[in-house]
Amino acid sequence: MTTETIPYIGFEEYSEHIPQTIPAAVQQATSRFVGGRAARVSELPHWEQLRQIASDIRLHTIDNMDIYLNRFVEKVQAAGGIVHWAATAEDARQIVLQIAKEHNVKLAVKAKSMATEEIELNHALQAAGIEALETDLGEYIIQLAGTGPSHIIVPAVHLKKEEIAALFSEKLHMNAPSDPIELARIAREKLREKFLSAEMGVSGANFLVAETGTMVMVTNEGNGRMCTSMPDLHVAVVGIDKIIPDWESLTVFLKLLARSATGQKLSTYTQFITGPRREEGEFGPKEFHLVLLDNGRSKIMKDPIGRQVFKCIRCGACENVCPVYKNVGGFAYGYFISGPIGAIFAPQMLGTQVARELPYASTLCGACADVCPVKIPIPTILRHLRRRVAQGDEVAGPSMPVPIRAMAGMASMALGWNWIYRFGTGILPFFMSVFKRGEWIPSAPYPLNRWTKARPLPPFNASFRNWWRAHSRVARENTK
Ligand code: SF4
Repeated sequence: MTTETIPYIGFEEYSEHIPQTIPAAVQQATSRFVGGRAARVSELPHWEQLRQIASDIRLHTIDNMDIYLNRFVEKVQAAGGIVHWAATAEDARQIVLQIAKEHNVKLAVKAKSMATEEIELNHALQAAGIEALETDLGEYIIQLAGTGPSHIIVPAVHLKKEEIAALFSEKLHMNAPSDPIELARIAREKLREKFLSAEMGVSGANFLVAETGTMVMVTNEGNGRMCTSMPDLHVAVVGIDKIIPDWESLTVFLKLLARSATGQKLSTYTQFITGPRREEGEFGPKEFHLVLLDNGRSKIMKDPIGRQVFKCIRCGACENVCPVYKNVGGFAYGYFISGPIGAIFAPQMLGTQVARELPYASTLCGACADVCPVKIPIPTILRHLRRRVAQGDEVAGPSMPVPIRAMAGMASMALGWNWIYRFGTGILPFFMSVFKRGEWIPSAPYPLNRWTKARPLPPFNASFRNWWRAHSRVARENTK
C-alpha cells in the first residue's frame, strides 16, 4: 500500500503562518500540562511498569496486526457496522464522499480526529458542496481562523483568549468578550443547532478493541458523543495502528493517556461504540461506517526502528516538554502533527525527501522519550531518519548535497582514525586563517556559507588536547 503525498508546508514558509505571540501562549499552556502530568504520575508508584506493559502491548499488536484487525472487523460486522478498507488518503476521501452522497448529506458535524486531518477530509467535503463543521472547541476555533492544529490535543494552543475573542467577533459578527467561559458558551450555542440538523457525524477514535469490535473515544467535551449519536449516520475514519487486543489492554492505555496528556486521572468522556443502535428508539446512529486507513502504515511497519512510531497514543506529552516545540510552536513543523512525534511521523508518512528537515528539528535532549507513556525511543528514531535523509533509503536517494555528505564522511573518518584526526586538527587552523577577519570568520566558502549567512563562524584555533597542554603549562608557570 502506498502513502499519498499530502500537504507539507516545510520550514521555509512557516514564518508566514506563525504569529509573534506563539512562544508565550504555547509555553504557558505546555508548562501547565507538564506540571499536571508530573503530579498525576507521582501518584502511581507502578508508572514505569505500566509504560513497559503499554510498549509491549503495542509492539505485540504491530507484530500481529493482521490477526487483530481481522478479529476486530468480524466483530464490527457482527454488531451491524459496515467496514471499509482505505489503502490511501484518496481512497478514504472517496469512501466518505460516496457514503455522504448516498445519504444526501448537506451538513456533517465532526469530532476531533487526526485521521481526518491526515486525509484532508474537510476540503474534500466542502469541494463536494457539503458543510463540514468542527465541533471540538479548539478545532472550531482553528476552523474559524482558517489554520491547522498547532498541538495534538490542544489545536488552538497558540491563541490567547483575547485573540479568540477577536476572531469570534470578526467571524461570528458579534462583540465577543475575552472570557473563556463566555467564549465556550457562544461556541456551544452556535454548534447545538448544527448537531440537531446534521445528517452525518464524523469522528476518529483513540483505540479499536479487537476483542469486541469496540471503538473507544477519549474526549473532554461532550461534542464527540453528540457527533456520534445524534445524526442517523456515523462515519469513523481511523488509522489501522489504533488497534489493541482487548479490554485488559485498554485499561493500561486509559491509565496512561489522560495523565500524560492533560494531567487528569481520566478524561471527562470515555465513549465505547460497538456498531450502530440495535433497535428503533435506542440512542445512537441508524448506520455506522468505519473506514480503516492504511495510507502507508503497513509499509512503515516493516521498518523495525521506524515502526515504533505506531506505539503512539497521541497524548502530546512529548510536545509539552520539547524545548524546540516550546520555542517555535506547532506550525513550524509544517505538518498537522507537530513536535517530536511529528518529527518522526511526517518523514515516514510523506517520505524523507519531502519532510527532510524534520528529523533535524530536535536537540536530541531526550526529554520526549523520558515522558512518552509508551516508551517510544524518539531520539533513536530521529537519528535513524537523519541517516535515511543523508544516505537515502529504498524509495529515494540522499537529499544532502554532495559537499556536505563528503564533509560528513571526512569528519566520520577523522573521528574514527586518531592519526587522521591529529593531522586534520593540525592543518585546519592554517586553512581557516585565510578566511579569518579579526577574531571571526564572517564569510566562509560553500558549504560552510550556510552557517555564515546567518552568523559568523568562530575559527578553529587548536585541538582541545593542544589547547589544554598550552593552558595548563601557562597555569603552571603562573603559579610558580
Ligand atoms: S510520542 Fe509518546 S509522548 Fe508523544 S504523543 Fe505519542 S505517546 Fe505521547
